[in-house]
Amino acid sequence: MAYKIYLSPSNQSGNKYASGNTNEMAQCDKIAKAAQTALTRCGFSVKVGKSGDTMANRCNESDAFNADIHMPIHTNAFDAKTTGGTLVMLYKNTTEHNKAGKALLDAVGKISPGSDYVLRYRTDLYELSVPSAMSLYLEVEFHDTKTGADWIRNNTDAIGEAIAKGMCNYFGVVYKAPTTENETPSSVSTYSIKMLRIYKGASTNTVGQVLTLQRILNELKEGNGYRGKDGEKLKLDGDFGENTEYALKAYQKVHSLTQDGVCDREDWSKLLCEYLK
Ligand SMILES: [Zn+2]
Repeated sequence: MAYKIYLSPSNQSGNKYASGNTNEMAQCDKIAKAAQTALTRCGFSVKVGKSGDTMANRCNESDAFNADIHMPIHTNAFDAKTTGGTLVMLYKNTTEHNKAGKALLDAVGKISPGSDYVLRYRTDLYELSVPSAMSLYLEVEFHDTKTGADWIRNNTDAIGEAIAKGMCNYFGVVYKAPTTENETPSSVSTYSIKMLRIYKGASTNTVGQVLTLQRILNELKEGNGYRGKDGEKLKLDGDFGENTEYALKAYQKVHSLTQDGVCDREDWSKLLCEYLK
């Protein structure tokens, strides 16, 4: 029997994004849709709450569905200055809750640009306490900074894949990556999510996207990282300069990728595959 996941994207259309003239509800609907696609591909049974619906209806639906996991999907806000990373909130501090929460946090938190991703316990949140299923309350990055908002808007598909990857890791299900034009489904064995193609001087270099790359390069090789031209760990500045390019090329060399300093789909795929396991 397939595991059942109920996705409950935020209905907070009043929470405006710092860029893109959009809001929390619109983006969380997109993330939920992408997560549904990815989870379904991986063999889960998925139900997504109707856009803008109430928390009460969502919880009733989740219970009627007999969900194994109830997952509210939100994006965060604080002081319009902090791109603070991803947060997963849990109702209880039990081994099982922590295992599930950590799996989700590892997958989504590690690709989000803010590095301070954490697990937290709350008993006062309706969608944590009411659903019968274990609830994993996801706050994907902060939308009240331009860095955070740009990153979320550009990566709703990638976030959906990361959610699926996290649930696969928790339930011990094999993650199936989306296919691209050149692949047949059976040949797909990598973590292959679409993220922006970035390189030194590219117009697609959003601060958040570059931060994600810099953080991954720094943390590979058991935390030793791929170093910059200066021999140091990369400065987490979101600027794709010569040190970031140098580190990426070193990574490409080790992994027999084209050493062009361009982080494209193939590079992201390898990086994420190694980083997220
Ligand atoms: Zn929210």
